[in-house]
Amino acid sequence: AQRYYIVGNWKMNGMRTALPEARAIDRAAQRLPKVEVAVAPPVTLIAAMREAVENIGIGAQTCHSAEKGAHTGDLSAAMLRESGVEFVIVGHSERRADHGETDAMVKARAEAVQAAGMGVIVCVGESEAQRDAGEAEQVVARQLAASLPGSADRLSVAYEPVWAIGTGRVPSIEDIAAMHKRLRSALAQAYGEAGAAVRILYGGSVNGNNAADLLSVAEVGGALVGGASLTADAFVPILAAAA
Ligand code: 13P
Repeated sequence: AQRYYIVGNWKMNGMRTALPEARAIDRAAQRLPKVEVAVAPPVTLIAAMREAVENIGIGAQTCHSAEKGAHTGDLSAAMLRESGVEFVIVGHSERRADHGETDAMVKARAEAVQAAGMGVIVCVGESEAQRDAGEAEQVVARQLAASLPGSADRLSVAYEPVWAIGTGRVPSIEDIAAMHKRLRSALAQAYGEAGAAVRILYGGSVNGNNAADLLSVAEVGGALVGGASLTADAFVPILAAAA
């Protein structure tokens, strides 16, 4: 049986008052050793979360590709690593939309994260218009090929349809299965045998009620969870579904 990777993306949510939630998630993770659990809090909480938890991974939500320099407001992969994270999410659709991150930028960021010795989660996903036009698989395969780092080292991919994020809508099981199968073959094309070890996560309106069904789909190796990762009450049932 596979070990599912369940990652909470807190986005721009979480003050210090959220640390008890992280502790409760951590306690649940300790009881569920068959699940690999992680949370990507805002950067401002990384240090405090490092102190607060023992059984879950901690990640960042983006990083710059350069090692250092004149990039006001940005953070390098090495800085993030020093702050206490062991993985970084890159290419989230909100970064692509709000900050103009292109596939080439996402690839460079992913490579910077790997060079700093951390895991990386590369996000891809189609818009609603692309899905309606019947182009979802081609669009996502193209986006993935252009966003992937040169190496499969500690790489995960997250398939997050933009129209499923924060909407309560999820693709059909058949559509998720077809997309993940397509992504698996794209990874084989990019990395050969090493592509088989890359975990492909599903993201977009995952919750405690739908997690078991979503995780049962072939080639779904875990989940990237937004809103339902912010509290232990919402997140722990997803972890339990993965156990
Ligand atoms: P929701 O789970 O809130 O739909 O967000 C998904 C997401 O964007 C995770 O990165």
